[in-house]
Amino acid sequence: MADLQNPIFHDEDKAREALEAIRWPHGPYCPHCGNANPDKIALIEGKKQSHRPGLRYCNECKGQFTVTVGTVFERSKIPLTKWWLATHLLGASKKGMSAHQLHRMLGVTYKTAWFMAHRIREAMKEDVKSSGPLGGEGKIVEADETYFGPKDTIKKRTIRGKPSNSSKRSIVALVERGGSVRSFHVERATKASVRDVLVRNADRKSTLMTDESNFYPITGREFADHATVKHTGGEYVRYEADRIVHTNTIENVFSVFKRGMVGVYQHCGEAHLHRYLAEFDFRYNRRTKLGFTDQMRVDAIMEGIDGKRLTYRSAH
Ligand SMILES: [Zn+2]
Repeated sequence: MADLQNPIFHDEDKAREALEAIRWPHGPYCPHCGNANPDKIALIEGKKQSHRPGLRYCNECKGQFTVTVGTVFERSKIPLTKWWLATHLLGASKKGMSAHQLHRMLGVTYKTAWFMAHRIREAMKEDVKSSGPLGGEGKIVEADETYFGPKDTIKKRTIRGKPSNSSKRSIVALVERGGSVRSFHVERATKASVRDVLVRNADRKSTLMTDESNFYPITGREFADHATVKHTGGEYVRYEADRIVHTNTIENVFSVFKRGMVGVYQHCGEAHLHRYLAEFDFRYNRRTKLGFTDQMRVDAIMEGIDGKRLTYRSAH
């Protein structure tokens, strides 16, 4: 948990300097024109604090900026000390933290806490393009789909013994065994939408493992191999000569997500589901077992605040 004595939680200058150190490890760069020449960037200083502390002037484009310009923190009047604390609380807690609890711990309104949490989730979102596909030759990728939604919207209707997904929120996710997970909210889980997620996010040299759902056989042929377990036949793990066929990894991911959502985030609008998925994926992909510490998780969030600023016109 966060060391609450750390000055970044109390001293706005220290909070800003700490953020500058993470975002500008090689010195400040201008977010307007990209200028990074230290001789052409000046810190605007003055005795009267008539300007924002940490304000820089760019000699290339004559623009001004601070460390939060172009980030998800931009244009909020929220002190950076509170951003640091919120980031520590969300990044270090195993199950996340509700806006209600953030509101109490940060001493901000509920609405502000809600805004902050969503902006931090945005910073947690993985840049899928730059991290490349999951899996690869000799690697196993498990894929599965699940349905999630508040109880009152889940219909009990079933189709051929399986719950109908007509009124629920569909999630398709894939995980590299021993590696990272990626979860997606899709409008409807179908052969086509599942294939789209799989081929965009998994290396086709991987071995695909799924249950016997009819979403996977055709797409499975595009992979090096496709092995299935027959859950309806009571088979959950199958030991073969050189591999173990199961989808337990991805099912555990779903179960952590659902427990967290029910326990911490009772109210989740469908429009925001992808952000909660990003939060849970972020934590899974930086789990302690892989050598990540709370501080590393917080730093990763702070590195991710770049260029993803959201503007919420209404809170709900
Ligand atoms: Zn500039």
